[in-house]
Amino acid sequence: MCGIVGYIGNRQADELIIKGLERLEYRGYDSSGIAILNGALKVHKKQGKVAALRAIVNEHDTTGTLGIGHTRWATHGEPNDINAHPHLGGRGRLALVHNGIIENYGVLKNALMAEGHTFESDTDTEVLVHLIEEIQREGNLSLEEAVRLALNRVEGAYAIAVIDRENPDILVGARKASPLVVGIGEDEFFIGSDASPFLDHTKKVVYLDDNQIASISRTKGLKIKNTANETQPPFIQELDLQIEALEKDGYEHFMLKEIHEQPQTIVDAMRGRISSKDGLVYLRGIEEFANRFVRANRIIIVACGTSYHSGLIGEYLIEDLARIPVEVEYASEFRYRNPILNEGDIVIALSQSGETADTLAALELAKQKGAMIYGIVNSVGSSIARLTDAGSYIHCGPEIGVASTKAFTGQVTVLTILALSLAQKLSTISNTELQQYLRELELIPEKVREVLEENDHIRYIAQEIKNHDNALYLGRGYNFPVALEGALKLKEISYVHAEGYPAAEMKHGPIALIDENMPVIVMATNPSAYEKIVSNVQEVVARKGRVIAIVNQGEKAISKIADHIIEIPATDEPFSPLLSVIPLQLLSYHIAVELGRNVDQPRNLAKSVTVE
Ligand code: GLU
Repeated sequence: MCGIVGYIGNRQADELIIKGLERLEYRGYDSSGIAILNGALKVHKKQGKVAALRAIVNEHDTTGTLGIGHTRWATHGEPNDINAHPHLGGRGRLALVHNGIIENYGVLKNALMAEGHTFESDTDTEVLVHLIEEIQREGNLSLEEAVRLALNRVEGAYAIAVIDRENPDILVGARKASPLVVGIGEDEFFIGSDASPFLDHTKKVVYLDDNQIASISRTKGLKIKNTANETQPPFIQELDLQIEALEKDGYEHFMLKEIHEQPQTIVDAMRGRISSKDGLVYLRGIEEFANRFVRANRIIIVACGTSYHSGLIGEYLIEDLARIPVEVEYASEFRYRNPILNEGDIVIALSQSGETADTLAALELAKQKGAMIYGIVNSVGSSIARLTDAGSYIHCGPEIGVASTKAFTGQVTVLTILALSLAQKLSTISNTELQQYLRELELIPEKVREVLEENDHIRYIAQEIKNHDNALYLGRGYNFPVALEGALKLKEISYVHAEGYPAAEMKHGPIALIDENMPVIVMATNPSAYEKIVSNVQEVVARKGRVIAIVNQGEKAISKIADHIIEIPATDEPFSPLLSVIPLQLLSYHIAVELGRNVDQPRNLAKSVTVE
């Protein structure tokens, strides 16, 4: 998920690599490390900033013209010095850096341990480098061939770079579902998660495709094969890019980049956890405590901000699918209001950073009172992840934009899987229903991609409504929490006052606010609430409110009367938030840009709220 840098050539590699890692700092990370080959492998790694790594490297001899470096964003094992990359094979012959997740590392690790391997770290990565080294030793193979055979046994997502103590003229890189690019210089080559680490040295690049393995030698140049052992000609491109553009992947802001990452991050949140083919849904944290979940009296979800809204969706999902009573509470209220809790309760905390002070304190309270506590967080090894009895990571990579987008859909995805898993255990849905749901869930990333194609249309709507001082967001059922989230996004980054309401509640107050100056954003995609919401839209139109409606493709009734419609693909009711929230993220983003706001760092807000 984070950053890889590699160098092979005739210059000193250490400084080039460390500078490259500094260039990748924007991606967010928790530790970094470097391995330089010069007869022996010299490995240095450090938790914290690249500056800390640089200080260590300065104190040691790291001469050498071949090396790899890494910024880690932990997915397996806490962020500490030992878990930082590079990792070494069991005999210390290979050094490897890795971005992504080796899903079947548990099985591979057990098999290797049975053969006598011991592991220093908790990472999935160390298992991979042991596997490659073992395959290389057994077959007396080249590094490239050992990597190829090993990758054929690996499930998951990865970009890797590997070097071999016994061969000072080879740097191997490979990728699957995680980016890797080779930079081609004069008698030297670079490798990177993107081109920013080496952009001042060369603009000639080859982007690796999934399942490709690059072998780079000073004497033989760059050769590419795929994991099926077919040679593939490198496609060399000349980049015409500034570093800033690269950091944001060509997007103007991190928030926009993160919105567009969601088709991938939702896949990452599902990876290894569902399979419609086998009717399988598997969340490790749930499996370990299956009995507690199945017997739970009630589930209480505690969270703040955007996470609170995903919690509300979680309530709808778990009650609807698994029939367990759920309550959702603002963590700050929960902790101070003397809540009733007992051992049959399960408290689930939602937090992107895993450091949210109120959520952490709420969990501590729940633990004291004997409830089982479960965490759904993004940051591995964070305080919440350490405190909880069990949990699930959302695996959506570092979120840089202060307004949360991909972490929201990551949380909702994990909550959806959690609800389906409980429903399966409690037999509240049939196997056929489960399989149908899973099939539809697997289509969500592609449907999110389709919604993102509405970007230009949504920008146009933003231009139309940007000068209003207020906005109302309405939804029913699964789309009510989405209305709250849409309003929050608008407030956060554009500083426009907005309220989210259950559409039916409008008549109990907010309807008084409606006139031609009030944009009303309506989510009308969930089938069970559709007829009712059509009436609500009519009520708004009758009072001259300006309606922006999010509807399913081909919808007729609202489309006729709304000022603007945004059409999105239909899906099963429980999954509708994953699609309907996307236009709202884009709408608030474009309004904020139109108003000249600082989108990625809105005033007064912090990314992770570590004070109460
Ligand atoms: N899964 C690996 C780890 O936890 C790689 C993390 C990354 O992509 O930085 O160490």
